[in-house]
Amino acid sequence: MNAPLIDPFARAISYLRVSVTDRCDFRCVYCMSENMTFLPKKDLLTLEELDRLCSAFVRLGVKKLRITGGEPLVRRDILTFFRAMGRHLDSGALDELTLTTNGSQLEKYATDLYAAGVRRINVSLDTLDEAKFARITRWGKLPQVLRGIDAAQAAGLRVKINTVALQGFNEDELFTLTDWCASRDMDLTFIEVMPMGDIGNEDRIGQYWSLKDLRARLAQRGTLTDLPDRTGGPARYVRVDATGQKIGFITPLSHNFCESCNRVRITCTGEIYTCLGQEGHSDLRAPLRGSEADHDLETAIRAAIALKPKGHDFDYSRQKVDGQVSRHMSHTGG
Ligand code: SAM
Ligand code: SF4
Repeated sequence: MNAPLIDPFARAISYLRVSVTDRCDFRCVYCMSENMTFLPKKDLLTLEELDRLCSAFVRLGVKKLRITGGEPLVRRDILTFFRAMGRHLDSGALDELTLTTNGSQLEKYATDLYAAGVRRINVSLDTLDEAKFARITRWGKLPQVLRGIDAAQAAGLRVKINTVALQGFNEDELFTLTDWCASRDMDLTFIEVMPMGDIGNEDRIGQYWSLKDLRARLAQRGTLTDLPDRTGGPARYVRVDATGQKIGFITPLSHNFCESCNRVRITCTGEIYTCLGQEGHSDLRAPLRGSEADHDLETAIRAAIALKPKGHDFDYSRQKVDGQVSRHMSHTGG
């Protein structure tokens, strides 16, 4: 029963991303509509259920666990869950426990996260301009996030900044953002905007800024060298020769990275999505709630992995949004 999780395309599943809530204290325009309807609380996995589920994956060979959402740090008592997962780091079963956050609660939680075993975090930040930040997140306050980043670094957490590349929005901040990250010794990764969820009146093609173009602009200022190290993830990295800074690009649209995909995602209601860009999913909540023993759960996990598709179908090349999936990023977890 403890054989590792291998999918039909011989990819070993070693990376689990778990959304612990669909709620958020921001309403980023590319992620949510302003008036979101959130799931009833009873549909969410409890912290104990999340613990059982993640622990089952760790038993089956998952080495890296990323907690996301929604905003993971707005879930009540979430530190209890981080501390619980910390035991898998202590035992050596898990190599890394990490999270993706909008940074709003980091001032409060950074020290406790470090104490729970977290060493690296991703903070999403699309602009360093306070007014633009308020516009893109609708509800967010930039100074609060910057204080959170300060607190994270002071606590000893390594911070990587994730920036969604948005045409007509942060093109003019390309160098401001890269230089700011370099000055604070933070890695930076740019992400292409993806067609996820119904977000109201936003024009996705209008938002889309190809990272090919972004990279070309970076290269105008100085030589970039491609870095060979692939983490099995979607990011490709370059080094800015003049400064040594490492910059990542996540290009789900202009480059397909599915062949090395080692990850699966779990929603806050216990659905497993084995591909971010496909609708196919399986329910793990029923086997989780149906029995206190984990046998049925592990069987359901294996059955889901056996259905992992070869890849996604996002495509903007025909000037219309192909391969769009209806769920929000905050549902599956970014
Ligand atoms: N709330 C946390 C945060 O913002 O970091 C974690 C969840 S959020 C859904 C994870 C990441 O998804 C963020 O970096 C966000 O910018 C990104 N994201 C959300 N919607 C997206 C979209 N439509 N296309 C590309 N990235 C998106
Ligand atoms: Fe919230 Fe993150 Fe989505 Fe922004 S990207 S609305 S912070 S879940």
